[in-house]
Amino acid sequence: MTDGLARAAAGERLSTDDALALFACPDLATLGMLAHAARLRLHPEPVVTYNIGRNINYTNVCWVRCDFCAFYRAPGHDEGYVLGRDEMFAKLDELVAVGGRQADSCELLLQGGLNPKLGLDWFEELFTAIRARFPMVHLHALSATEIIYLAHRARVPLATAIERLHAAGLASIPGAGAEILSDAVRDRIGFRKDRVAEWLEVHRVAHRLGLPTTATMMFGHAETVAQRVEHLEQVRRLQDETPGFTAFIAWNFQPDHTALGADPSRWQGRRATGFDYLRTIAVARLFLDNVPHLQASWVTQGPKIAQVSLFYGVDDLGSTMLEENVVSAAGTTHTDEVDLGTMRRLIRSAGFTPIRRDTLYRPVAETAA
Ligand code: SF4
Repeated sequence: MTDGLARAAAGERLSTDDALALFACPDLATLGMLAHAARLRLHPEPVVTYNIGRNINYTNVCWVRCDFCAFYRAPGHDEGYVLGRDEMFAKLDELVAVGGRQADSCELLLQGGLNPKLGLDWFEELFTAIRARFPMVHLHALSATEIIYLAHRARVPLATAIERLHAAGLASIPGAGAEILSDAVRDRIGFRKDRVAEWLEVHRVAHRLGLPTTATMMFGHAETVAQRVEHLEQVRRLQDETPGFTAFIAWNFQPDHTALGADPSRWQGRRATGFDYLRTIAVARLFLDNVPHLQASWVTQGPKIAQVSLFYGVDDLGSTMLEENVVSAAGTTHTDEVDLGTMRRLIRSAGFTPIRRDTLYRPVAETAA
């Protein structure tokens, strides 16, 4: 057994060299066993959680034009849109019909592009209106990238922008926009995007203000394995400094209809395999000893790999995601295959009890639905 495997088996904190050694380990089954043991140390009960939520992508207009993104339309494009409030409320009615009316029982993941026409006031008004009409909805909204832009556009400090959004109803912040937390990688796949220090600062400030966030990683494009480890190290270090990440979620780059995907010389040239996904989340579970939950990405991996991931460190199947537009724009969609009943069945048939939760991982009665 290598030193990294031995330390992982002993439940000790891993170094970045250990993580690199685990990525190089050819024995995926052993890696999974160690990651599952780490998961059981954190969550010994034989349960897997999920929540009832939907995405709303309020606009697809975005000036950042990341090369890995198939979702955006540049300002002025014919296919650019901004959803009206009635349209968003109709989607929220659908969510509540499934999720029920118990406080915070339904999750709205609200994200979009960096649309030069939408300022901080627009979001404050929207959030206030959503909270007034849908108090049962937990507003999990806006990536670090969007928040940085809103603060910049309003010429206010980042903390002020987050405080204003929080006062209007923002309850937590998703980890989107992290991609790979290495400026060298960002320069290659989305050079107009915020820098690593800026992404971290949004999450640092949010945690200090008492707003929980999640951490994500999009891998399998232009990064090296060492840069994946660098990413994990950034997340773990910030969590040591200001705890507030509730979960870590990883998925692989979806290349279809993207500028990056169209040029094989700029990325690894083929989608990451299920093997690579399972290895990456297993190493993440072992390395991120201070992040409580690991969430599967069934939207990108499909239900079968998502189910297998429950033995590679994952303890949560994520959201029902009644609507998804970003990943499906890049040619991958499993939303037709996975509904609430399927999620519960996947969990049960893997030998766990499905438990519904809210965004902050508190249990929600099944009868709320
Ligand atoms: S990933 Fe986000 S910031 Fe980048 S182009 Fe797409 S919508 Fe814009």
